[in-house]
Amino acid sequence: MIGKLEKLHIPPVLIFANACKRSDSVLRQLQLHSSAGHLIGNHTCTHPSLDQVGFVRYAADAAQGDTLLEPLLARQPGERFFRFSFLNEGEEVKVRDSMRQWLTAYHYRNGLVSVDDDDYLFSSKINQARKRGRKIDYSKVKSLFIRHVTGAVEFYDALANHRSTRARKDRCQIRVRSV
Ligand SMILES: [Zn+2]
Repeated sequence: MIGKLEKLHIPPVLIFANACKRSDSVLRQLQLHSSAGHLIGNHTCTHPSLDQVGFVRYAADAAQGDTLLEPLLARQPGERFFRFSFLNEGEEVKVRDSMRQWLTAYHYRNGLVSVDDDDYLFSSKINQARKRGRKIDYSKVKSLFIRHVTGAVEFYDALANHRSTRARKDRCQIRVRSV
């Protein structure tokens, strides 16, 4: 994969790791990616669900991941990302805030995700327009993008609710950032 990324001139990617899962081989792989210039992020050690295990156990698990990944994270100062397992940031405000404090204490930024990968289509069109020297109305692109992503969120939420009786509307915490 490293060779393919290089061949395609892909800029550094961010890889989120569960360092406790098959830790030896995973850490060796991550080391290779890190040496090739890619970034490594902490995705907890064993991938527990915050709302199932509670703050104390979850933070301990995340800290274990941090310890295992530290040699790699140290290579990327200022680029420490944490991604919540199942994107679950805590249903209760107290739990959510406790984890936010934990992230600050461990110097992590929240590794947010795109719920829909069509942002690549938007980027590609913008880059094409730029190359042609066209004037781009970013506020229009922004509102179009937000409308598009909101539509995708609603679609996938409806699909999840349809497929799973356990799916709840608040399962996914989405943040839409401007393009
Ligand atoms: Zn995950």
